[in-house]
Order: sequence, then structure tokens, then C-alpha cells
Amino acid sequence: MASVLDTPRKADLDRKPSPRPSKRSKPAGGHPTKEERIESGRMNWASIGWLIVLHVGLLAAPFTFTWQALALTVFLHWVTGGLGICLGYHRLLTHTGMQTYRWVRYLFATLGSLAGEGSPLDWVADHRKHHQLSDQPGDPHSPHDGSFWSHVRWVFYSTHEGDREGYLKRYAPDLARDPGMRFIDKMFLPLHIMTGVLLLGIGYWTGGWAMAASLVVWGMFVRLTFVLHSTWLVNSASHMFGYRNYETTDDSRNNWWVALVTYGEGWHNNHHAFPRMARHGHKWWEIDLTFMMIRALKAVGLVWDVVDLEKGKKGSKTRELGAE
Ligand SMILES: [Zn+2]
Ligand SMILES: [Zn+2]
Repeated sequence: MASVLDTPRKADLDRKPSPRPSKRSKPAGGHPTKEERIESGRMNWASIGWLIVLHVGLLAAPFTFTWQALALTVFLHWVTGGLGICLGYHRLLTHTGMQTYRWVRYLFATLGSLAGEGSPLDWVADHRKHHQLSDQPGDPHSPHDGSFWSHVRWVFYSTHEGDREGYLKRYAPDLARDPGMRFIDKMFLPLHIMTGVLLLGIGYWTGGWAMAASLVVWGMFVRLTFVLHSTWLVNSASHMFGYRNYETTDDSRNNWWVALVTYGEGWHNNHHAFPRMARHGHKWWEIDLTFMMIRALKAVGLVWDVVDLEKGKKGSKTRELGAE
């Protein structure tokens, strides 16, 4: 048990369904519950401060609106949320659903950082833990602990009991020992400041101070808030509302409106059934824009060994609902 995730790929595939413990039962093995995290008093002040700044910046949105800024917001939502988080942090780094060059990994890790959801190290560790304990005590963000908790409140409290290095070694050893990922980890805030300054410069150059303010408020504050809530909906809504294709031990659901704002990540029951699979849309109507991007990257030779539907299901005993 010392290293469930030393080989995350195998851990994903071999994860046996375990009976769901009752809500009150205390898990063993350093998996603090919601109550224990709150009682510990270990607040994640960096995240709280970050979220306050973003949501305060959002208040300036109605006064700085321009169509150019709206287009920029949608574009950057896709680049940072879609390419950075859904493809990069999630399907590539957390679940190794494909193989690629080292520089491509760093590129997607950088785009993911620009989504404002924390460093690749913490994100991957938290998400692997979510898969290990989905909707059981110790899951970092389960709606069993309340929908508001699973959406955002879980971010306010540390997930690692004060031992970040130990936590990373356990859940993200592959990333924790990678000097490139360590560098991206340190660059989290500078990257955002650089992006903000870049947008300020482009705005000022193209339309003076009014456009500069518009691009910064919308391209940074509005876009980052929009990206954060999109991702959080996967943790909250996709564990509460929608239908199920597979019998998993958690409450994961396939939710079309979450899939819409997360480029296919809303097909979350499919994903929990086959975590390593890079393809999340399994039925013809389950449109998966992130997987379309992965196919495009494969076509130009930037990724390979993509875990597709057939490969991902091979040898699996996961029961498909309504198939018999
Ligand atoms: Zn989930
Ligand atoms: Zn996942």
C-alpha cells in the first residue's frame, strides 16, 4: 500500500471496487475526512487569497466589456481550460492516457498552470486521490460532504495534512521527481503576472487604456473564474446529476452541460469506469472535444499510444449498464 500510485497507470486499471463505507466511518492510512480537514485548521490561504482576488476583479467586468475581450475570454478558456486542464493536467499528466515528448508534457503543464487551478504537482496528486477514494471518506471533493464543499469549499482546506512533499511522493511521484515540473510549479504566479502584463500591453497598443483594462479584466479575471467554475462542475455536478453508462462504485454521472463547458470532461461516469482511457465520450452523442484534439495531435505525430475505447476496455470486468 506504500505506493498505490508509484505506477499510476497500473493503479488505475487494477482498482478493485471496494464496498462503500458509511459516511461516519473513519478511514485508515492518512486520508483526512472533510471534518478532520476543517478541525485541523490548516487553511489553504494561498488558494483563498487567489479566489478572492479573482472574484473581486470580476466585479469590474460590466464596466470594461468589449466584444474583443469576450472573444479573448472564450479563446483563453479553451487554451487554458481545454488544452491545459482537460487534455494536459487530466488526461495526459494524471492518467497517462497517451505518450508524448517531454517538451509537449511541459507545454501542456504550462498551459494548465495558466488555468489558475494550482501547480501540476498538487492538481495531479489531488485528482489521483479523488480516483482512489471516489465518494468515500477521504475523497478530497465529494458531494457526499455537501455540494458546495465538492464545488469550491474543499479548496479552502489543505489536502495534505501539512506534509506536501510526502503527499506528492505518494500521489504524484512521477511528477515530483521531474525537475521541469518543479520549475513549472515555482513559476505559477509569475506566469499569471506575465500573461496579465502581456494582455495589458496588447490592449494599450491596440486601443489605449480602455482596451488595456478590458483585456486584463476579461482575459484574466473573468476567464480564470469561468475556467475554475467549469472544472469545479466536474467535481460537483458530474457526481450528482446525469446518467450512468457503467456500474462504478462512486456516484459519477455523464452530464452533457458539464461536458459542454469542459470540452468533454462531463462524461465523467465513463471516465471513472476507465480512468486511463484518453477518450471520455463513449456513445456517439457524447461529443468529446478534448479527444478530438488528442486525435489531431496523434495525426501530426505529437502524441502516440493513445488509450482509446477498445484498448482501454480490454480485459475489463466493468459492467456496462443496460447492455444485457
Ligand atoms: Zn470524479
Ligand atoms: Zn480523472
